[in-house]
Amino acid sequence: MCGIVGIRDAGGISFSLYYALYALQHRGQESAGISTFDGTRLYKHKGQGLVSEVFDPAILEGLSGNVGLGHVRYPTTGGNRPENAQPFNFLFRDHLISIAHNGNLVNDRELRDDYECRGQIFCTTTDTELIAKIITDEMSTSGNIEDAVKRCMRVLKGSFSVVMLIDGILYGFRDPLGIKPMCIGKTEQGIVLASESVAIDALGGTLIRDVQPGELICIDENGMRSMQIAVAARRAHCIFEYVYFARADAVLDGALVYDVRLKIGAKLHEEAPVEADTVGPVPDSGTAYAIGYSRRSSIPFVESLLKNRYMGRTFIMPSQKEREKAVRIKLNPIRKHLKDKSVVLVDDSIVRGTTSRRIIGIMRDAGAREVHVRIGSPPIKAPCYLGVDMPTREELIASDKSEEDVRKRITATSLHHVSLEALVDAIGIEQKDLCTGCLTGCYPVTISGEESRFHSVEFLDGTYQARLELFG
Ligand code: AMP
Repeated sequence: MCGIVGIRDAGGISFSLYYALYALQHRGQESAGISTFDGTRLYKHKGQGLVSEVFDPAILEGLSGNVGLGHVRYPTTGGNRPENAQPFNFLFRDHLISIAHNGNLVNDRELRDDYECRGQIFCTTTDTELIAKIITDEMSTSGNIEDAVKRCMRVLKGSFSVVMLIDGILYGFRDPLGIKPMCIGKTEQGIVLASESVAIDALGGTLIRDVQPGELICIDENGMRSMQIAVAARRAHCIFEYVYFARADAVLDGALVYDVRLKIGAKLHEEAPVEADTVGPVPDSGTAYAIGYSRRSSIPFVESLLKNRYMGRTFIMPSQKEREKAVRIKLNPIRKHLKDKSVVLVDDSIVRGTTSRRIIGIMRDAGAREVHVRIGSPPIKAPCYLGVDMPTREELIASDKSEEDVRKRITATSLHHVSLEALVDAIGIEQKDLCTGCLTGCYPVTISGEESRFHSVEFLDGTYQARLELFG
């Protein structure tokens, strides 16, 4: 999980990159960074914290140029270290390179070993540095930048959506299975590549389409070119993007996430109806689901928990006791809506189960008589190796427990998770084209010790498929 954006815009880009990252803030709160190119120099600013904490107008004024990229980081591999903040900038034989990545490689260890055996060193533990290393290595043998990028796309395995600047040309590419999202948009004078369409909306732009799995996009002063580098037998879009990760107002691979969540809410009622006084969400992740449930069941939608929107990240609380208190500051119950009531509480997912247990405790303390929990994803049973921060099996509450055991643990009156069939139906993409690893324990790429349904990938010569003239 991370958010990426790349923009070429004749009207300047640093403020646009900032707004786009702001729109993608939900994809990572650990660090934020921007780099830009003005025709001669690369400029960069990045730091730990939220987009609004890392940048100010003076910093943005100093990021010159008409092409650049940005990144918000959610630490998965590589841990929470300041040196892992992206984008990374490199100088290689007079070529100025900047790169930002969303995803997780599964062959990073062997690729790294290969370079280290040849005496190369790495400054970070990130996949991003590894991708840059592969590209510069290929550049040194082929001498051609585009060929180097294409070759890099062939050796990476796992999930990767990448934006990259080399000598002022903006490149974007997506892994052959399309695991991580990336889309293309248009503004008055420019082109935008972004993890989610909400970044394009924030710039007043228009969504053109998704970057296709295995596609390479090149954007220069003449416009945009597209090349299909790899074609897989199937796709493997991350199912959890629809469940939790993407913003509800994003359009991902053709589906409006809000609509998907409304449909799942309706299915939750169809699969597990219950008589209750009200239905409401765990804010904000459960809201669209709860509206869907309410519409389908005709049980009134009533919010009984209010979220403090100005709450900082809870991990800075030093002790467990402080963190417990922080949950109370973050979510406050509306007692009048809960006292002696039977309520349906809807959320997107249960991962460790600690949040649900705490929230139900708060609701019962406020007088709720019954709390019927409805969850917009099937039980999460297995870790994610492809970029979502899903813990180990030991930490996942549903990995070895029945739904009834989980119900008892979180102290719900009743509990139902939506079925995989209903979730897939709501997304509107066939199950064979979705990655369901965290739900089924079966992954679309080979992972040692895990079950996989391998998707064969054919590599093409990468001749131009399409051209979009946008400038001049
Ligand atoms: P818990 O069961 O206590 O681990 O919390 C689950 C809740 O955290 C879900 O309802 C989501 O809203 C949210 N969530 C789910 N997956 C993640 C994740 N990978 N990182 C952060 N929050 C998540």
